[in-house]
Amino acid sequence: MRKPLIAGNWKMNHLYSQVPAYFQKLSEELKGKVDPRAGQVDILLAVPAPFLGLAREVAEQSGYLVAAQTVHEKADGAFTGEISVPMLKDMGLRWTLVGHSERRQYYNETDASVAAKAKACIEQDVTPIVCVGETRVEREAGQTEAVLRRQMEAVLSAVGSSVAYVIAYEPVWAIGTGLTATEAQAQEAHAFIRSVLRSKIGSGAEQLRILYGGSVKSSNISGLMKQVDVDGALVGGASLDPAEFSKIVAF
Ligand code: PEP
Repeated sequence: MRKPLIAGNWKMNHLYSQVPAYFQKLSEELKGKVDPRAGQVDILLAVPAPFLGLAREVAEQSGYLVAAQTVHEKADGAFTGEISVPMLKDMGLRWTLVGHSERRQYYNETDASVAAKAKACIEQDVTPIVCVGETRVEREAGQTEAVLRRQMEAVLSAVGSSVAYVIAYEPVWAIGTGLTATEAQAQEAHAFIRSVLRSKIGSGAEQLRILYGGSVKSSNISGLMKQVDVDGALVGGASLDPAEFSKIVAF
């Protein structure tokens, strides 16, 4: 049985001074519905790097997980602006997104660099949420499975048989566009990803959580969560409002 994981991604939104109020409001909204400390569902927020220390302080005591939005594959060095896995660990953080499509698109992250980041995280006990997904052009050209296989094989060749990570299937055409994959499209892609995992790591594939991301909202979460291979969600825009995010968490 895979525990659901609902993850929010603030991207480059909100302010440091708004962090405590966000988590307070989220807890108020969840009261009587979901107890973040009870363990039925993991609730995670990926916040901008300057907020990580504060978010960890205010959120983790209430049972939320806090994640970085990206991390560098090297432990240290002349990489201005970057954050390393040891830095996250030293702050008491244990989660990060890796290979979000915006990182791939705007910051030239490749299958190889994403795989290296995932490997660095796993080696140091930080759980990466590794994002994969096809563009609209790739879907329309019938290349969805080939793209997912390529992205997954790059990760698998770096991390081997480890199951200490999470996959987020995020069709690029559904991110921030208001277009959501249908429940059937999501299930089909998730089942395909699990089949690729199974072919490489056998039964470990059943333990790995695969999140769906792409315009998830309170109105579409429950149908997505009913799909057998959908183990949670990675939520961008709808995670910015704690009231809306609480409804997604309480799917
Ligand atoms: C995301 O940022 O990972 C995402 C899925 O964004 P949105 O929910 O806004 O489409």
